[in-house]
Amino acid sequence: MKVCVIGGGASGMMCATMIARKGHDVTLFEKNEKLGKKIYITGKGRCNVTNATTGNEFLQNVVSGKKFVMGAITRFNSNDTMNFFEEVGVPLKIERGNRVFPVSDKSNDIIKGLEKAMNWAGVKVFLNSNVESVVIEDSLAKSVVVNGEKYDFDRVVVATGGISYASTGSDGAGYEFAKSVGHTVIEPVPALCAIKISGNECKEVEGLSLKNVTLTSKVQDKIVYKSEIGEMLFTSNGISGPIALTTSSYINRVDFSKLKLYIDFKPALSVDALLLRIDRDIADMKAKQVSTLLEGLLPKSMVALFLKRLDVEASMKANQLNREKRKMLVNLLKNYELLPDSLENFNQAVVTAGGVNLKEINPKYMKSKLVSNLYFIGEVLDIDALTGGFNLQLAFATAVTCASDFN
Ligand SMILES: Cc1cc2nc3c(=O)[nH]c(=O)nc-3n(C[C@H](O)[C@H](O)[C@H](O)COP(=O)(O)OP(=O)(O)OC[C@H]3O[C@@H](n4cnc5c(N)ncnc54)[C@H](O)[C@@H]3O)c2cc1C
Repeated sequence: MKVCVIGGGASGMMCATMIARKGHDVTLFEKNEKLGKKIYITGKGRCNVTNATTGNEFLQNVVSGKKFVMGAITRFNSNDTMNFFEEVGVPLKIERGNRVFPVSDKSNDIIKGLEKAMNWAGVKVFLNSNVESVVIEDSLAKSVVVNGEKYDFDRVVVATGGISYASTGSDGAGYEFAKSVGHTVIEPVPALCAIKISGNECKEVEGLSLKNVTLTSKVQDKIVYKSEIGEMLFTSNGISGPIALTTSSYINRVDFSKLKLYIDFKPALSVDALLLRIDRDIADMKAKQVSTLLEGLLPKSMVALFLKRLDVEASMKANQLNREKRKMLVNLLKNYELLPDSLENFNQAVVTAGGVNLKEINPKYMKSKLVSNLYFIGEVLDIDALTGGFNLQLAFATAVTCASDFN
């Protein structure tokens, strides 16, 4: 059977390999001059290639498409990914949070491993080959147009990725292919990205990293998402860092004019416990200044912002803080409000949420329900997950699931 795979990224290379291993004649078209440009920048150049968790624990890290990917991540789980790379000569190691990296810490080794696997399996790879359209005849994908020329195939796999970091090649072409054959595309939105915050408070503490805090997003007192205890970072115009990135994936479809974010600087202490602690601190400090009290509770660079919100002078004595101000301080420490303005754009979003509508794809083989010899795999689908190696695992798992439809 003649099979076309569009896209030489994580999902495309894995899928092409697996189909070719079954003896089919597989051609992969990649528009860039080299394969795996996005893989190259993953994991800050080290490529967090999968996460050594399976089953429910894995699923907890999938944001959209949990039910849809369940079969795929069971069919090809993180152990299978690890075995695959070890077999093609890329030794791996497991780090904190079950994150898996190549021992070399070089993402290029993951690309080389996939290239080698394709080569061994006999995949024909064409670089600098931009697929312009998928041609449908008699309700089947009959050919693809590449750099102006038409090539015929028996089956076509779309593995063109999302629309984030478009300079790596994923510029949303797959959405157009999907629409052109009658599929609907759930509006793509940035995910795993920084959050811009209104006002200029963030600028005042730019570069400050907060540890052991939580971030809660709410719409009119209803919690949209509450992060785990973790780390976040102030940027010149907003917030970034692990818990902000995770939050972005859960708020990217919420109306920002109704959304508020709250930092809890003391997640391990209840409001009452914190009030008691502050009373005790003030009693111990005798006539010291409020700023000294705050420095004991917060990173130094946050103190000025707290003083402003408390509306007290830095020189005021801590023991002059009345009950109302002490309660206000506790509230600021537990619920420091930030008004989100927008998410960062696609060029700074690690993944794209949204994509080809899962209702129109059979999850057993990642096959279109509209065109029976057309498949969609990887980030082009309306699936996304958190950081930790989960997105690449989804790309590999959907790829292998697709290949399982080829005997
Ligand atoms: C900065 C950054 C860091 C990341 N780090 C991690 C990480 O450490 N771990 C993790 O799990 N995930 C990470 N991700 C996410 C992960 O890289 C993606 O989810 C994954 O690469 C998606 O695989 P894919 O095959 O669907 O798409 P891609 O890897 O984007 O591949 C799509 C390919 O299709 C090609 N293409 C597109 N249109 C056409 C066309 N018309 N004709 C021919 N070719 C075409 C593109 O050039 C591209 O090579 C990161 C992403 C970014 C941006």
